[in-house]
Amino acid sequence: MTVAAKPTMIEFRDVHKYYGDYHALRGISATIRAGEFFSLLGPSGCGKTTLLRTIAGFEEISSGVVLIDGKDTRGVPANKRPTNMVFQSYAIFPHLTVAENVGFGLRRANLSKEETTRRVAEALEMVGLRGYGARAAHALSGGQRQRVALARALILKPKVLLLDEPLSALDKKMREQMQVELIKLQRQVGITFILVTHDQEEALVMSDRIAVMFEGEIAQLADPETLYRRPTSRKVADFIGTMNFLPARILSETQQGIEVEAQGLGRMLLDPMQAPGAASGTGVTVGFRPETATILFEGQKADREAMGTIEEVVYYGDMTYYDIRLDGTEAPIRLSMRNVFGRAVLEIGARARVAWSPGALVLFR
Ligand code: ATP
Repeated sequence: MTVAAKPTMIEFRDVHKYYGDYHALRGISATIRAGEFFSLLGPSGCGKTTLLRTIAGFEEISSGVVLIDGKDTRGVPANKRPTNMVFQSYAIFPHLTVAENVGFGLRRANLSKEETTRRVAEALEMVGLRGYGARAAHALSGGQRQRVALARALILKPKVLLLDEPLSALDKKMREQMQVELIKLQRQVGITFILVTHDQEEALVMSDRIAVMFEGEIAQLADPETLYRRPTSRKVADFIGTMNFLPARILSETQQGIEVEAQGLGRMLLDPMQAPGAASGTGVTVGFRPETATILFEGQKADREAMGTIEEVVYYGDMTYYDIRLDGTEAPIRLSMRNVFGRAVLEIGARARVAWSPGALVLFR
């Protein structure tokens, strides 16, 4: 089933949260579907953890409603909600074994010893820790602790797993490995995962959909590709990856599209949906990602070319960034080019022809 066809698991209806005078959540309305891997992404202090905690029941909201699986959660305590949370700090008991840690969540369930052992083994298997049950928790690596924390949350079979920056304590390699494992795990168990992260790459890699938050509001909610290719504001575009911006102005709106003139690029026709009803003369901004334009070498030709001067060359191994100031512009734009057959040797100060495509441009008002 596609994510779009799945039933709603969480619904926020105009949720507000005040801490004293501080307005931390400013009218959040959104739905999260059953079985979805959903991320709350935003800079520090934007309210993503607060929003996650309103689902768990750790945070009382000031107004609005949070529904879980169709039920109004007002007055429902955390331990009566079909949710479970994995914290950044893991909260593992170092003096217990791995199996005791994982089984801890079941202590109130009144299960037989055999049933507990079976469920613990099943949960450990799920997170790739088969055979680790008897080990002392304090002797585990960061990645293994993370898995124990996941197993302990999953053993209770929640409908929704809440993950608050679960990978932030791991080093880069381990984090990337755990990202892939978490995606696989989510597919396998099929329950709703809601992840809080400030790492845009992590959100893009892992999520079915992402809510980008700034200052207590959702700025855009979409799948990773739409967020990356069609951000609705400069702020979102800037937060997710790198985007070049050039000042531009609307010339006219016709049946074929909106005619726009951008500094450094000249005139172009863009999809009218990008700025419906914009008046001629309106100042706008066009944006494009560094990988959607390229430097042309001698003999190469493109439909759309712009001239510029190389201001900086930054070598990154698999790719090189070129900062180029297009003629008639004030600030350089950045291009990224893969170093497939070695790299283009271009000196700072050299002139360059840049190929670009109107289809890759995004218009911001
Ligand atoms: P981070 O990534 O830094 O955790 P966040 O986006 O998760 O950031 P929140 O933790 O949700 O942000 O906090 C949102 C805002 O609310 C912040 O400005 C924070 O200082 C404030 N805040 C959070 N908890 C409390 C509290 N218990 N009392 C007062 N203010 C709070």
